[in-house]
Amino acid sequence: MSQGIKIKNLINGEWLFPEWCDVVPLYNPSTGEQIGVVPLSTPEISNQAVEAAAAAYPSWRATPLPKRMDYIFKIYNAMKENLEDLAQAIALDQAKHISEARGEVSRVIEIVQMACSIPTLMQGETIQGIAHNINGRVIKAPLGVFCGVAPFNFPALVFGWFIPVAIGTGNTFVYKPSSESPLFMQKMMQLLIDIGLPDGVVNVVHGEREVVESWYDNDDVAGVCLVGSTPTAKAIAEGCGRNGKKSMLLGGAKNFLLAMEDAPMDLLIENILMSGYGSAGQRCLAVSNIAVVPEIYDEFMERLVEASKKITIGNALNPDIDMGPVISQKAVDRIHNYIEIGLTEGATLILDGRNPNVLGENKNGYYVGPTIFTDVTPCMRIAKEEIFGPVLSIIKVGCIDSTLELIKEHKLGNGACIFTQNTFYTEKFINEADVGMIGVNVGICAPHPFLPFGGIKGSLVGNNKVQGKDAVDFFTQNKTSTIRIVNPKDESATTTTPNNSGVRSCVAS
Ligand code: NAD
Repeated sequence: MSQGIKIKNLINGEWLFPEWCDVVPLYNPSTGEQIGVVPLSTPEISNQAVEAAAAAYPSWRATPLPKRMDYIFKIYNAMKENLEDLAQAIALDQAKHISEARGEVSRVIEIVQMACSIPTLMQGETIQGIAHNINGRVIKAPLGVFCGVAPFNFPALVFGWFIPVAIGTGNTFVYKPSSESPLFMQKMMQLLIDIGLPDGVVNVVHGEREVVESWYDNDDVAGVCLVGSTPTAKAIAEGCGRNGKKSMLLGGAKNFLLAMEDAPMDLLIENILMSGYGSAGQRCLAVSNIAVVPEIYDEFMERLVEASKKITIGNALNPDIDMGPVISQKAVDRIHNYIEIGLTEGATLILDGRNPNVLGENKNGYYVGPTIFTDVTPCMRIAKEEIFGPVLSIIKVGCIDSTLELIKEHKLGNGACIFTQNTFYTEKFINEADVGMIGVNVGICAPHPFLPFGGIKGSLVGNNKVQGKDAVDFFTQNKTSTIRIVNPKDESATTTTPNNSGVRSCVAS
């Protein structure tokens, strides 16, 4: 039987399928059909990719900035021209609803637009006259080879977060997509070849953790970045820390939404449907715990359950359905297990997404329908742990303060939203919610590409965030120089002058 699409590595501009490696099957989660195979590349293959990136680095770094920017502009144009093709790839193997897949590619195009500002974002600083004839200057220099690892749920976005900024600032790159959603990068890398990006500047290696672990003690690797679960982020932090490498590690999430008594109800329900069930709940900014004050609780529950029951489920490529499948049978099993846990813990299952009604001929796909628990308390596992599926936990809360306390106590701190029309509540929530990204009357609080994206606490291991100046800071290093201006015609410049003490103190400190 044919194995379908053979997902290939791209090393030094060459597409390669390592026939001798083990493979994992690639499925279409909407139908459960196998559509291809993904190689489990060995550390040796990963090292070859790093070698290619290291070899490409000197001339790429020396490429004048406007010329490097030419390539970033070409990536922008190529993505715009091929938006539909790229979105179809995401809707096929990651089974993100086609309209959301288009949204993801559109967002990446905006991120590439941000990367077109690198000539401004990577400007350094100078200070003139720190002593007589002495100036200070900081330049932001590239570091060499960066390596990146992606989760299954945002194959395009994570490419956008890492690669345009890394290469725009003069580094070269090795990227490992998730083996559950590699198709986007096959298309994207062909676009990079088509625009004429020099060989070795971006390389792709498919596989699992062995690929990543081979980077830690490779002297050519300057840093590693990941978007993934918190345990993976911690494992990579350890490997990088041991070997003195930079790392930028975005981890898991469990996001709160607080509905106050003056929440605009239509907007609230519409945003919860989008945020809770979009991508079948497999988003790091998906709302998961919903805190509701007593004044609106009954009306809110009635409206939410009624709207949730109307969500249609089916093939992610069908634009007429609302929600596609989750990524795998393993994910279905994990979500079902959490539903059992919720029941055992004493929560009330008022909408059960197990065995949902699936439209069309997609019975073997990996579907879970909208699921709602009420009577949830903060110490239950369904309120504490990341379920990563379309499961909402409703918590009755007394006021804004008690919700802020719940958010503070939670180990993860990616995003949180408040729905209110009251300025006092708004400002208090912005000031006190212990998370990295905040939404006000916005269900998915994804910051614009010019602003930093990332959580705090367990949702971010280390300090570095993606997007904007933060990303430029990660992919560059500050180099500070102290420059004495010597006039070759002025012989006294080499002898002691009245200003010499100023010079000495400046140089010594
Ligand atoms: P995952 O952590 O299982 O895998 C992510 C990537 O890391 C994969 O490419 C995988 O092959 C690799 N990997 C797994 N274990 C590893 C290890 N021990 N060492 C090195 N590499 C390893 O995550 P996933 O299931 O693919 O994605 C879902 C997770 O990603 C969720 O926790 C979600 O919240 C998180 N996520 C976070 C953000 C964010 O912005 N914070 C965005 C998207 C997804």
